[in-house]
Amino acid sequence: MNKFDFLYDKSIICLNCEHTFVTKKVRQGTQAVASRDADFCTYYKEQAGNPVLYTVCVCPRCGFSFTEQFSSPLSAQARKHVQVKITAKWTAKEFGSVRSLRTAIAAYKLAIYASQLTDQPYSVKAGLCLRLGWLYRYLKDNAEELRFLRLAVEQYEQSYVHSDYRVGDKEMSEVRLLYLIGELNRRIGEFDQAIRYFSKAISLKGQTIETGIIQMAHEQWSLARETYAQQQKQRVGS
Ligand SMILES: [Zn+2]
Repeated sequence: MNKFDFLYDKSIICLNCEHTFVTKKVRQGTQAVASRDADFCTYYKEQAGNPVLYTVCVCPRCGFSFTEQFSSPLSAQARKHVQVKITAKWTAKEFGSVRSLRTAIAAYKLAIYASQLTDQPYSVKAGLCLRLGWLYRYLKDNAEELRFLRLAVEQYEQSYVHSDYRVGDKEMSEVRLLYLIGELNRRIGEFDQAIRYFSKAISLKGQTIETGIIQMAHEQWSLARETYAQQQKQRVGS
């Protein structure tokens, strides 16, 4: 048995240059979950089989990097930006085989850049920043993790304001988004914002069937309030 049997080759058509290339994906249902953090960051028994490593597709020909959530087709304007800013500087790199955390991180950074150049929905940019933050969490690189969680919060807040959070992510409901913005704010130390968003999530209690999220919002709201109160006390004391 091959060590990487859980991977398969998927043919992808580049959203930019239409070149067909092969990238690895994780077979659905083959990976056992070990644990999950409150912001949905998931740890698998075999972290090498974490599907997050393989979410981004990198076109070896033009360098355009994207996920299945990207809107297509790209506008003529967007293609022009990609040509000048990415393809003109691109030297072929291999992203189509087994990925380490470092390789996955490089792929996400390319995709974030491509998402900005082609004006993707806030929800798409937010999802990329969040997952890149998780990759740094797996590496225990706290500073880089927080840097990308901060960017994710900004994009998710915009996604909430502009109501584009269902684009490309059918699982994302209003209550889940509010909860997630709360939790990410808590993690970056913005406790007052965290409390605000958890309260907004809790206020949807009677209007959602996602009672698990309401429960989590209650728990994380208490946690954020406790930490915030402690922090205020220390400030007064110092
Ligand atoms: Zn391409």
